[in-house]
Amino acid sequence: MPRREDAPVTTTTITRQQQPPVRAHNRSLVLQALYRDGSMSRADLARRSGLTRPTVSALVADLIDDGIARELGVRDDARVGKPATLVGIESDAFHIVTVDLSSAERFVGAVVDLRGGVVERASVELDGAVGEAAVSLVERLVDDLGSRTTRPLLGVGVATPGIVDHDGVVRTAVHLGWYDLGLRSRLADHVGLPVHVGNDSNAAAVGIRTFGETTGQAAAGQSLMVVTIDHGVGVGLVVAGALVEGDQFSAGEIGHVTVDENGDVCACGRRGCLEEVLAAPQLRTRLRQHDEGSRGAVLHDAGRALGLVLAPIISALNLNEVVLSGPADLVEGALLRAARETVRQRTLSAVSNGLTMRIAGSGTDLALLGAASFVLQAELGLT
Ligand SMILES: [Zn+2]
Repeated sequence: MPRREDAPVTTTTITRQQQPPVRAHNRSLVLQALYRDGSMSRADLARRSGLTRPTVSALVADLIDDGIARELGVRDDARVGKPATLVGIESDAFHIVTVDLSSAERFVGAVVDLRGGVVERASVELDGAVGEAAVSLVERLVDDLGSRTTRPLLGVGVATPGIVDHDGVVRTAVHLGWYDLGLRSRLADHVGLPVHVGNDSNAAAVGIRTFGETTGQAAAGQSLMVVTIDHGVGVGLVVAGALVEGDQFSAGEIGHVTVDENGDVCACGRRGCLEEVLAAPQLRTRLRQHDEGSRGAVLHDAGRALGLVLAPIISALNLNEVVLSGPADLVEGALLRAARETVRQRTLSAVSNGLTMRIAGSGTDLALLGAASFVLQAELGLT
């Protein structure tokens, strides 16, 4: 795969870590303005970022030298005076390899450009692989994707189930049999690129925050919750624009909250965890055990269990946006309706009146785009 050191643009000129802090911070402000609000003139960039015109001009010159931004021609408007030249992100300056390991059936991945546009897709079937076998599948998928672009790669982003620390160590991912697995260092050694690893539910929430406008998934406010329902059940929380990870990196681990003390025994050893009624494999097993006529009731029970767990979280944080991400045949319809109704019954109207609970339109891409966002944050300084 094309490594950045072979690329025409060298890595050393673009990473924020190698710049003085103030300059790196200002550069982030300019990049963020271009990401959030699209192409604009240097004068508009100065207004949006709060920086002076000369500072913005110098930073834009740097970004253009690095290939990350480019001039897009003159703005076509009727104002008097010299027309302003627009500056925008050069989407294809770098590509990012991004993978999502949350599905119980397959690891999925994509090559995306700097604006989150999907350039290529690939996937690899899991076939029950766990432990080292699962790590090998991730390496194979990353290699496959890396070979599909001729652009220099900015890095690799990984959205994985489980608890992940800031060193990219997967402390626990029960379903994949990973315990204290140094996934970031393993992959970085394998591909020779910067690798950034995060929890899949957190990635989905960050994906909406960073690329919401691109994907049509934009959240209504600065606080949102994404509930991912797949191999397991997890929550990604963004509050006041910031990802909430928790001191033990376990914020949002709601899958093992007890919802039925007499329920089935869970992989964690206890009974009646939320995952036992809501995770995709368990839910599909339950649906197979019932006839078609009971399908709605099984999905309703799963949605109700989710609502019971979510109601106090939504109330405590006064969230107004909850997005369910998972297989459409499971989460749409009866499950969503029951979750929504249960939350409404169990929260004050002051909380529930402003609440939107919806399905993520483009399911798996949220975590993929969020993992790409991990790379953009670390390598370009976007927040
Ligand atoms: Zn459990």
